[in-house]
Amino acid sequence: MTHPVLTALGLSGTESGTYLGNGEWAKTSDAGILEPVNPTDGEVLARVQASSQDDYDTIVERAQAAFKVWRTTPAPRRGEAVRLCADALRENKDLLGSLVALEMGKSKPEGDGEVQEMIDIGEFAVGLSRQLYGLTMHSERPGHRMYEQWHPLGVVGVISAFNFPVAVWAWNALVAAVCGDITIWKPSPKTPLSAIASIRICNEALKKGGFPDIFFLFNDAGTELAQTFVDDKRIGLISFTGSTKVGRHVGERVARRMGRSLLELGGNNAMIVDQTADMKLAIPAIVFGAVGTAGQRCTTTRRVFIHESIHDDVLAKLVTAYKQVEGKTGDPMDTANLMGPLNSKDGVQAYLDAIEKAKAAGGKVETGGEALDRKGNFVKPTIITGLANDSEVVQTETFAPILYVMKFKTLDEALAMQNDVPQGLSSAIFTESLKNAEAFLSARGSDCGIANVNIGTSGAEIGGAFGGEKETGGGRESGSDAWRAYMRRQTNTINYSDELPLAQGIKFDL
Ligand code: NAD
Repeated sequence: MTHPVLTALGLSGTESGTYLGNGEWAKTSDAGILEPVNPTDGEVLARVQASSQDDYDTIVERAQAAFKVWRTTPAPRRGEAVRLCADALRENKDLLGSLVALEMGKSKPEGDGEVQEMIDIGEFAVGLSRQLYGLTMHSERPGHRMYEQWHPLGVVGVISAFNFPVAVWAWNALVAAVCGDITIWKPSPKTPLSAIASIRICNEALKKGGFPDIFFLFNDAGTELAQTFVDDKRIGLISFTGSTKVGRHVGERVARRMGRSLLELGGNNAMIVDQTADMKLAIPAIVFGAVGTAGQRCTTTRRVFIHESIHDDVLAKLVTAYKQVEGKTGDPMDTANLMGPLNSKDGVQAYLDAIEKAKAAGGKVETGGEALDRKGNFVKPTIITGLANDSEVVQTETFAPILYVMKFKTLDEALAMQNDVPQGLSSAIFTESLKNAEAFLSARGSDCGIANVNIGTSGAEIGGAFGGEKETGGGRESGSDAWRAYMRRQTNTINYSDELPLAQGIKFDL
């Protein structure tokens, strides 16, 4: 039987995974089937028909044609289209949030929160549509004016990860839309239904408002079409969110064809808790940061460095809190639960493997350390002590609720350990010391794209530019001036004099 949430969203037991434009969903049935699974009970939620090479070609051709029209639509008018999408998402927030919880396995409030992020970035993009500013410069030549302007880039490709099945698309697509671009989306094969529902909601809103198609969708049964997408010269920008392993490959391939890529890859986020920290803030921040979304956020807290003078006390408090979370681990649709399942059986295996590796390297499991003996992909939230920061398992992002707790003596030592990992996404310090806070934020402090004081590593507001350094990929999405990634810059010089003065005063007598 089709789940009532799917039915309420107009989805059936078999769905097309391809939006071709012109209101058409492909009828392709021979390119493979995706079977997204409810991680709570292991049941297949629906069957999604994957896209064929022909479907892909149709989409790219139609997207290119759509771009020719959209790029000349005034940006504030493009903003109006995005406003309608944000309104439609608000109307459907409860249902779409439930679908995200059902398919991905995050809690219902987190599912709703993800849809709220879509709405928020939509509103941000509406304002942005009147603020795509370029600079003017003073020319060195008399009678000349110089300025820069930002033009739409073209067709943008979004490849997204399973853990934020809808928000990541919106961060990209809604900003790209006001920038004058057309977006083609390839979602994670683990969460195609959330993608189909999002595209339907937005496209219906666009159609009602008399706007053309600006969002397209395809689903890949394997990785062949995704690879074609990455290598396709017609796609001006590939915005990729996922693991460092796949992202490295994508970045290299896009660079080879001189395309642009925006990479949002894995994190290995740390929190420093110094001897002055306010425990009322630090303890819940660590617990939420480490077990929220069952440790499946790119910004999840994976390492905590605690000053040696308070280490044992903080650890004891964390273990008590973790036991409470363990007791409230269950169906993510039940709002009494604090932690849901991992998204897949592979995720459970990665969790178990990491715990074995940690033990083999001398780690001590303080709490958790095993899967829960019940249907679905449930594991216990886990704290491990006794490992060095440079041990292999600590250096690796395991997408599960495993927290490595370590001690430090001096802030410099804590900073060195925090930065000494391949990834550079999010970081935080808990301190009441102004000196420590400022040192953490200074050029010799955190090397991450996100550095917070007295607030945890996980989650981010859409107003700031989101992304990280080193093996996190260097991309920035969402707020601030991240919109520039979706546009091309053009520098213009206009001569309104009767002379032709050459730059740098060069004389060229004819
Ligand atoms: P993944 O790398 O396995 O998959 C990501 C996407 O890449 C999926 O859509 C997948 O189908 C696609 N893909 C796989 N092979 C491909 C290929 N050869 N060419 C093109 N696309 C290909 O990641 P995942 O397991 O879905 O997500 C978890 C990872 O994503 C974690 O590492 C997490 O930290 C990261 N993530 C990062 C951010 C961020 O903003 N930095 C946000 C969310 C998730």
